[in-house]
Amino acid sequence: MNPTKKPMPLTFVNGIKDRINAEPDFQRPPVWGTAQKQMLIDSILRNYDVPKFYWRQTATKPDKYDVVDGQQRLRTIWAFFAGEFKLPKDNDPIEGMDIAGCHYTTLPDELRLRFDIYSLDVVILQDTDEEEVREMFLRLQNGTSLKSQEKRNAYSGKMRDFVREKSKHPFFEKVGFSNARFTYDLVAAQLICLELAGGPANVKNADLNKMYEKNTTFDAGCAEAKAVMRVLNFLNDIFLEKTPELQRYNIISLYCLISELSKQYVIDEVKPLIYDWFIGFEQTRIREEQKPSDEADAEWYAYKEKISHSTDSSESIRVRMEFMLKHLLEQYPNLSRKDNQRGFTYLQKLVVFRRDGGTCRLKIKCSGEKLTWDAWHCDHVLPWSKGGKTTVQNGQISCPACNMSKGANEEAA
Ligand SMILES: [Zn+2]
Repeated sequence: MNPTKKPMPLTFVNGIKDRINAEPDFQRPPVWGTAQKQMLIDSILRNYDVPKFYWRQTATKPDKYDVVDGQQRLRTIWAFFAGEFKLPKDNDPIEGMDIAGCHYTTLPDELRLRFDIYSLDVVILQDTDEEEVREMFLRLQNGTSLKSQEKRNAYSGKMRDFVREKSKHPFFEKVGFSNARFTYDLVAAQLICLELAGGPANVKNADLNKMYEKNTTFDAGCAEAKAVMRVLNFLNDIFLEKTPELQRYNIISLYCLISELSKQYVIDEVKPLIYDWFIGFEQTRIREEQKPSDEADAEWYAYKEKISHSTDSSESIRVRMEFMLKHLLEQYPNLSRKDNQRGFTYLQKLVVFRRDGGTCRLKIKCSGEKLTWDAWHCDHVLPWSKGGKTTVQNGQISCPACNMSKGANEEAA
């Protein structure tokens, strides 16, 4: 990939701003909050070392670049030059010079000059194709590599055969990325790894390697194999054409979401809704991502963080799946429990609790008591014994006293 390292003074980096694409499509880091931005500027003013930047050269005369790594830092530097934010009011002085609350233009002359001539270490990647850049980006961000799947495809054994076959499932024709370096195999391997774990789990290269090694005699007719097939067919039924929103991390989230839905809810009720819900969810996400961090909704901000790095970790996958499911339940409050079960799920309760503002709705014994999360009952509005369903719509907050009183009245009636 022919990398060359170039020191670039900040004034120069600011001057060629128009020729740098800081948002190539494989990048999705969260937007930095003001404190993070201020910290970077302070570090530069103190002449601290800033980690290397990686830019891919996309044109010459004039030179143009895509930022592979360092997008947030670069945008922060530009924003400081443009006077879009200032240093905090309690910023410590630098070598006796007061910089608290300073904008770029109000910095002491000596420090402004120091900022101007501060050199970034930029590694310029020339003659590099997009797949190579993607590989590099993945390694820098997640510590994972696409090349690992190529190696796994060279293994022998039934797991390898199973994954290879699943990577040809028609659903993959609809996803928003190419099969370069066997990405479909990688995703198919991750799905079976999740299924074998029974839910969110680490699906990094090391985990997949272990799975291949342990399952050389994998039975393609086993329950887990069938479950993978079922969910892939389900996804294939929902997505009728190529869908750019189907990024790798989203397929993993959707897989877990659909598995969870089919374990806990009446899946046939959900199926016709999922496509519209998913597209709407993605549109909201994009809208939320445009907002600066101080205005962003806290939950969406946290979600964005989870899709930005370590997307193959168990924790990230669980948070994403639960966030999506909660969103789905808010939007479609009449999804009912599988097999007409009486108990509300954790997420149904959470949605009911938030919707009802944490106060008792029954008001038989109280006048709308404010309740804490660990001391309330989720009551069926139309009692379960009278055919009431276990849905968010038919759930309400009740204090224990009101709940007991309602129960007693029903028995008496
Ligand atoms: Zn009450």
